[in-house]
Amino acid sequence: MTTNRPAPAIPQTDPRAGYLAQRTAIDAAIARVLDSGVYILGREVEGFEAAFADFVGVAHAIGVASGTDAIEIALRACGIGSGDLVFSVSHTAVATIAAIERAGATPVLVDVEPGTYTMAPRELLRVLRSPPPGRPAAVLPVHLYGQPAELSALTEIARISGLRLIEDCAQSHGAFYRGRAAGSFGDIACFSFYPTKNLGALGDGGMVVTNDPVLAAALREVREHGWRERYVSARTGINSRLDPIQAAILGVKLRALQTDNASRQAAAARYDSGLTGLPLALPARRPATTHVFHQYVIRLAERDGLREALQAAGIGSGIHYPVPVHQQPAYRGRLACGPSGLGVTERAAPQILSLPIYPQISDHAVDRVIAEIRRFFA
Ligand SMILES: *Cc1c(COP(=O)(O)O)cnc(C)c1O
Repeated sequence: MTTNRPAPAIPQTDPRAGYLAQRTAIDAAIARVLDSGVYILGREVEGFEAAFADFVGVAHAIGVASGTDAIEIALRACGIGSGDLVFSVSHTAVATIAAIERAGATPVLVDVEPGTYTMAPRELLRVLRSPPPGRPAAVLPVHLYGQPAELSALTEIARISGLRLIEDCAQSHGAFYRGRAAGSFGDIACFSFYPTKNLGALGDGGMVVTNDPVLAAALREVREHGWRERYVSARTGINSRLDPIQAAILGVKLRALQTDNASRQAAAARYDSGLTGLPLALPARRPATTHVFHQYVIRLAERDGLREALQAAGIGSGIHYPVPVHQQPAYRGRLACGPSGLGVTERAAPQILSLPIYPQISDHAVDRVIAEIRRFFA
């Protein structure tokens, strides 16, 4: 054995490990689709849609090409577009805001809560009292890092204000809020199956879910050129279908989602106890919610120094997200926000750090990350 070989790298996330964990079943599922001769929609997609609807506890699920498309399609199915205001957050993947603009609507950015980084209901109320020009149409909270936003308050505000509630569940597959699944509160909820998400495809994929049969029909139409009857567009739509190969893969991975989420939660609990007492903030847990730890995000003033020290020790980390959407070059200076601004969002961005977390991460790897962080502060 060589002596001074560097310790193995610990990646921040590892979608390949998720494939290898179920390689035989996934390879068989792919072969089944190839053999079937059906390469667009069909039984594989319908089967996964039914299984996913069942998992979330909703009546209808419609497979689409990505999480970004899911949001655009959800808005269009609600008839939301030009002149309509959609209230969302700046502390999110740019996809959330990009999809609102793709639908033709106007994003209005609401600040987040300091602990959970999800939409602050009080700030939503404030901006609804003095909205920018346009028709208030929908509230689009993001269940960030795997933890549901404050859904009871947001649902109530949407209801009394006559707004649609559309949930961005791209990071919260399997999370619960007061005993109910994230994705079952909104008029529509939008999921991403990007490979690193809690339920990840081996490529792109997404899903929209709803309990409303009228919206379900509209979602199916918008997904495929507005067709009600094949080749006849009842409305304008787009082409955004979930690929049957990805649907077959996702069907295999869905069966492991609950144990995968439990593994993420176990890693998070290990980080919690190992990092206690250091000058950094651990992830806040909202009472009566299930956090599924898409990310494990700590907060500290010396973020960049710690990130470099981890890097030098072969430990990957991430920043979700380094630049709030309203400060990115393509959006700077042109997005509306509430009267009290986006101070919580802006102060968080330079201090947050996402530690390695994925279902297959070992206790040993988590302990090495903890030891390296403790050494940084020693
Ligand atoms: C990943 C993600 C999306 C977009 O999903 P894609 O499948 O990559 O298009 C949207 N919103 C949030 C919060 C995400 O994390």
